[in-house]
Amino acid sequence: MALPLYLIGARGCGKTTVGQKLADALGYAFCDTDRHLQQVSGRSVEQIVAAEGWQSFRQQETLALHAVTAPDTVIATGGGMVLAPENCRYMREHGQVIYLNAEAGILAARLEADPEQAQRPTLTGRPIVDEVDEVLAARDTLYQNAAHRVVNAMQSPEGVIEEIITLLALASAG
Ligand code: ADP
Ligand code: MG
Repeated sequence: MALPLYLIGARGCGKTTVGQKLADALGYAFCDTDRHLQQVSGRSVEQIVAAEGWQSFRQQETLALHAVTAPDTVIATGGGMVLAPENCRYMREHGQVIYLNAEAGILAARLEADPEQAQRPTLTGRPIVDEVDEVLAARDTLYQNAAHRVVNAMQSPEGVIEEIITLLALASAG
């Protein structure tokens, strides 16, 4: 049994896409905290935020993090998971935390090309590029500090997975 792998990073960095493929490659289960929340509450993230506000969403997100934590599991986390120091502590204590790092321009281009993501509520109501830039500026340090490892998420999903598997092999060897 191996510790869970938590993937953290801003919206569009590939937590869901890379996470599912990484789980397949390792023979692990895959969980997504946003998807778990949707299944438990019967609501989408945007519906929870609209009905109950961001604060309530954040509280439910912490519960979701605890609920999906299990051995041999890759866990894709919501982009704002690191905003609560409690969540960062929890992830570092319970598993390996990996930051999928990408520049704002790349994240924005991916989100703009992805209709599902583009429908997500913005924090500011401004154009997506501005928002991504601002969110990243505010959160990059949080992601860096929460992570055991930082990987380059600006390459192909296969490249990201290879980098993670190499890092994990090095970690277990030494
Ligand atoms: P997250 O879960 O971190 O918000 P997603 O996995 O949903 O990000 O990816 C957001 C969008 O970017 C999707 O359309 C996905 O196909 C694309 N994407 C994710 N990772 C990569 C990558 N490494 N290279 C190219 N496109 C990617
Ligand atoms: Mg996702």
